[in-house]
Amino acid sequence: MIEATELTKRYGDRTAVDRLSFTVRPGRVTGFLGPNGAGKSTTMRLILGLDSASAGRVTVDGKAYGDLPRPLRAVGSLLDAKGVHGGRSAYHHLAGLAASNGIPRRRVEEVLDLVGLPVATARKRTKGFSLGMGQRLGIAAALIGDPEVLILDEPVNGLDTEGIRLVRELMKSLAAEGRTVFLSSHLMSEMELTADHLIVIGQGRLLADTTMRDFIETNSRAHTLVRSPEPEKLRALLAAAGAGVRLDARGGWRVDGPDAATIGDLARDHGIAVHELTPAHSSLEEVYTTLSQSSVEYRAYRAEDRTHSASRKETVR
Ligand code: ADP
Repeated sequence: MIEATELTKRYGDRTAVDRLSFTVRPGRVTGFLGPNGAGKSTTMRLILGLDSASAGRVTVDGKAYGDLPRPLRAVGSLLDAKGVHGGRSAYHHLAGLAASNGIPRRRVEEVLDLVGLPVATARKRTKGFSLGMGQRLGIAAALIGDPEVLILDEPVNGLDTEGIRLVRELMKSLAAEGRTVFLSSHLMSEMELTADHLIVIGQGRLLADTTMRDFIETNSRAHTLVRSPEPEKLRALLAAAGAGVRLDARGGWRVDGPDAATIGDLARDHGIAVHELTPAHSSLEEVYTTLSQSSVEYRAYRAEDRTHSASRKETVR
């Protein structure tokens, strides 16, 4: 289990991680989602003791990473896939890791198999590796100690479709074995397919900590897509009834507020033909974008609040 409490990291006057508290539990894949620069890598570095917190704390199984007796066997991590000496072969890199951590050499072939790197490829120097192959090697290295906790920063970055699918299935099966799997991504679409639980951050702050299912149910607002041969008339009618009406990317109006039946009845009562009436939900990508943007606005408001407290009301949304 990974537990962060009021975790904070400042670089000069920039706060990369801002009083972040969350728990990553075993037995499920936890997605760590946030736009680039949100503070995901910094948080992961803090968990792994590669950087020290300005305030607050983070533990793995109740201990600071540095106090774990056999860290590589407790926690496997992938932060920067390029952190391998280019002159060595992938096989030697892994064998070296195994030897220095008292792990049997046969584990090397096991992890190569898990990440889909053929042994013949692994015998080659990593200098010629593509980003995707480097990424597979990084994941293999994270798995070498058969750890209970996995921390992977953007693990599917640079992978082809097959690699993405392989990593996704691997993460799910590791979680199903009862391990703690913590993955970061800036892509909602990736998280949607992989994660059971979501921790969303923006500008270093916690925006959501919830199951994927709850995140979808709570945030995915219903709306209706409407098409009519008299679009302007319909728009004016709906707007007058208090509905939110916007042009939808697919053409037609996207209506927030009244449900499809209410819209249909209203149009009929005013003699307006309707050619399509489709109930829909905002995509998770839209929800995530809105959430990330609202964090930016929140921060802007906070900054403004310190300098112009009089204009406070106008900036609150
Ligand atoms: P993410 O992984 O979500 O893309 P990062 O954790 O890499 O975000 O970065 C969070 C913020 O902290 C960014 O604004 C970044 O510029 C800043 N940052 C990260 N590492 C350092 C560092 N070593 N020195 C100064 N600023 C940093």
